[in-house]
Amino acid sequence: MNEEGYAVLREDMVQTQLIPRGITDGRVLEAFRHVPRHFFVEAGQGHLAYRDHPLAIGEEQTISQPYIVALMTQSLGLQGEEKVLEIGTGSGYQTAILAELAGHVYTVERLPSLSAKAQQVLASLHYSNISFKTGDGSKGWPEHGPFDGILVAAAAGILPPALPAQLSRGGRLVIPVGRGWQQDLYLYINEEGGLLRHNLCGCRFVPLIEEK
Ligand code: SAH
Repeated sequence: MNEEGYAVLREDMVQTQLIPRGITDGRVLEAFRHVPRHFFVEAGQGHLAYRDHPLAIGEEQTISQPYIVALMTQSLGLQGEEKVLEIGTGSGYQTAILAELAGHVYTVERLPSLSAKAQQVLASLHYSNISFKTGDGSKGWPEHGPFDGILVAAAAGILPPALPAQLSRGGRLVIPVGRGWQQDLYLYINEEGGLLRHNLCGCRFVPLIEEK
């Protein structure tokens, strides 16, 4: 398929998977029209990249379903200048979407091979507002905090306490919490009176592997 063909698939994804399910933020939709998701999937799977489901990316990990990436991104309410922390770089697709919408993205991945591959793809797309780290993201990245948004792409048993501690005032944290396949996607907002929690939906993510 050529790039025009992929652009048609992207528009179709936006019209059938994102808009009807409540993704209404114009900047988020524009990012989904722009970022070539087929660059982030395994060789030979480009034609599957825009379908309505996750895909394997190696190392028993997955690139999340487009709608879930969009829902998590929209819930951060990004305007363009924010500092965002992403836990679970994976393929780097979500990282690219965030880099389109925020000022700078700090992304942490525990598996060096996935981080290296994502860095390569994102460099080929000329993103210059992303910093990468290999390690346990459940500890956050305190040297660069506080963050206006934190997005966690792997499911935690409980909310790792280091993460809300690195949120700025008014900052937003989106994270799947739960064990096995019983997970909920939560949005936490760091309000003046304390941390507010909203349950966005049920979900299925790979586990967040935390170092002891
Ligand atoms: N947003 C990614 C999703 C990747 S799946 C994408 O769309 O491609 C989740 C990723 O989280 C996996 O790559 C996994 O290796 C990583 N991960 C799991 N536990 C982690 C931890 N404690 N710190 C950092 N990354 C972690």
